[in-house]
Amino acid sequence: MSEIKKFSELDLIEPIARAVAGEGYEIPTPIQARCIPHLLEGRDLLGCAQTGTGKTAAFALPILQRLAKSGGRKSRIRTLVMTPTRELAAQIADSFNTYGRHLSLKCTVIFGGVSQRKQEKALKQKPDIVVATPGRLLDLMEQKLISLKGLEYFILDEADRMLDMGFIHDVRRVIDVLPAKRQSLFFSATMPPAVAKLAKRLLTDPVRIEVTPPATTVDLIDQSLMFVDKDDKRKLLETILNNSTVSRALVFSRTKHAADRICKQLENNDVAAGAIHGNKSQNARTRALDGFRAGKLRVLVATDIAARGIDVDDVSHVINYDLPNDPESYIHRIGRTGRAGRDGNAISFCSGEEVDYLRGIERIIKGKVPVDTDHGFHSDDAVNGLEDGEPAESPCKRQAREQADRNRRRRNKSGPRLTRSGAKRASGGSRRPKSPSKNRAKNAGPAKNRRRRSKRSAV
Ligand code: AMP
Repeated sequence: MSEIKKFSELDLIEPIARAVAGEGYEIPTPIQARCIPHLLEGRDLLGCAQTGTGKTAAFALPILQRLAKSGGRKSRIRTLVMTPTRELAAQIADSFNTYGRHLSLKCTVIFGGVSQRKQEKALKQKPDIVVATPGRLLDLMEQKLISLKGLEYFILDEADRMLDMGFIHDVRRVIDVLPAKRQSLFFSATMPPAVAKLAKRLLTDPVRIEVTPPATTVDLIDQSLMFVDKDDKRKLLETILNNSTVSRALVFSRTKHAADRICKQLENNDVAAGAIHGNKSQNARTRALDGFRAGKLRVLVATDIAARGIDVDDVSHVINYDLPNDPESYIHRIGRTGRAGRDGNAISFCSGEEVDYLRGIERIIKGKVPVDTDHGFHSDDAVNGLEDGEPAESPCKRQAREQADRNRRRRNKSGPRLTRSGAKRASGGSRRPKSPSKNRAKNAGPAKNRRRRSKRSAV
């Protein structure tokens, strides 16, 4: 297929082309140019792409067109998009509404952590498109408030993150009830074996499209690394924020607790900041994100999962207050700046305990992150993986060691145990596994499943 350079070459119907022009898009991004023609023909698709590539329009535009051309509203759910986080679900639904604003189709969004009533009401209006997170979707399916019998298009977004977040069983349960005749689209930033297996189960003779492997995206972003002692990170962040070129900054922390603490410190210094993480209510998260989007908050502090897929224009800086232990997260984080071909800046702090994480990141981006020593808090100790002059332990290793210590203490407290024959057995020795049937019975209760799901969807 020759390279498509303009939206007008994509055979989009007038109301959709008008909406796209209204968004100011002139040239399709590579994923749009490559996906849209196949999707308009009705092919299944396996897309290896991450957010920031224009992926949403790549699937929303052709699906809207197929819905419109095959009769428009039919008073049943014809399209389901499943995505791991609430923010992403809301964003995708917004995109469907934007690109479909000159059509008469209805789209609704469904996610957990908020009252179900409004969503029930929206479902009664028989939307054509539903964008959902897995937990709430299954809840509503179990309550017979959603039927997928008439589904024609299914899109699974961010499949690898679904797996990471423990949604894979929920996803399989949804796939199991989909009608056999359908068009399916599957998107994932990475393709580990479990994800590839799921794709095989879902798709029939798919076109495979891979765009912007991580290293290419990274090339657009001006990255820098600052070695700093853990206790100096706060002051270093303040210094960076004193620079007016940092107009809109997304700051990543490792834990929810740290996100709150950083946010509070910034507010104390008169920096307009908000935080989003899994312990915040949905309303608080929406408020913070909207404030950040509207420019009322200059800084948004987030944990990885809460920030996944956040699409905010003109994020001038991503600041990794803590380096992620999963190197792929580094790519996802810095991809929040430099979106859709624009330049961006990513500054990463690295303390002595994070040097191992840095090595993992440099392996995956296949290069070194340029080091900036020209700041007031540079630490040679951190460069050498030291903390207070001693070799530092990574947060993951420390956590594992502390957990092992706690387990050991608990075992010692309960003392040696007696086996049935009366002989002493050291606690912590091999324990008889629970019978599988007992485990099954324990996991089967719907109430328990529901609780577990709503907890998971609260990230
Ligand atoms: P996505 O990867 O779908 O999250 O899109 C990332 C950003 O790119 C969003 O802000 C879109 O509005 C924007 N975008 C998508 N397609 C285009 C395009 N063809 N031209 C310019 N911006 C685009």
